[in-house]
Amino acid sequence: MSAREQYLQALGVDVWKPRTGAPVAPVAPIAPVASVASVASVVPIVPVVPAAPPDEAAWETLRSQVSGCTRCELSQTRTQTVFGVGNRRAELLVIGEAPGAEEDRQGEPFVGRAGQLLNSMLRAIGHSRETLYIANVLKCRPPGNRDPRPDEVASCLPYLSQQIDMIQPRLLVAVGRIAAQNLLATDTPLARLRGQVHRFGARATPLIVTYHPAYLLRSPTEKRKSWVDLKFIRAELARARSGA
Ligand code: SF4
Repeated sequence: MSAREQYLQALGVDVWKPRTGAPVAPVAPIAPVASVASVASVVPIVPVVPAAPPDEAAWETLRSQVSGCTRCELSQTRTQTVFGVGNRRAELLVIGEAPGAEEDRQGEPFVGRAGQLLNSMLRAIGHSRETLYIANVLKCRPPGNRDPRPDEVASCLPYLSQQIDMIQPRLLVAVGRIAAQNLLATDTPLARLRGQVHRFGARATPLIVTYHPAYLLRSPTEKRKSWVDLKFIRAELARARSGA
């Protein structure tokens, strides 16, 4: 079974297959797209690594700053900071909201069931934890998994911005309403943020919004929309690679 089929099955989305002997329509190549509606094809992608690696010393300095950070009161309740994980030359940087209880224990973002679903989602478009980078808006867990407070986001976001500046990804993907609204400084509902390319930071890095995997586990009706988002992400990445 292909990665795409595994993901769709994990989401409970029916996979259409032609009957044996039936003619199979040719798969169209990915073309530059401007909207979700124009994304239709399914083509495996071989991740391309951008040329410039982040400066090792600067990266470790930043990591050290984060691990000892006391800029906000979350430093008093965390078990440890969750800096991020993945390829520091990634072309795709996935951004969640904040560490949960398990992430706080393990020091890694997106672990547990939601993390497994995120892995499946990313595999379906040709990526893995080894080819991309995953981080959160906040590096420390808010107690009881409450929403991040504006002052906490203001204190912590500069760390993520520095990571983005060092990695220089082609595309950012904000997963979930909290991450999207904080990165884009808006209170627009997630449904209206999906399906378009936003910009983030001084480098105006392209940013796409999709559902949080934990939300998808709770909300079966949104599963098909998530697949639409993934195809949009893949197509936008292809467009960014081509320089179009
Ligand atoms: S959440 Fe961010 S700003 Fe607050 S203590 Fe943790 S690392 Fe520092």
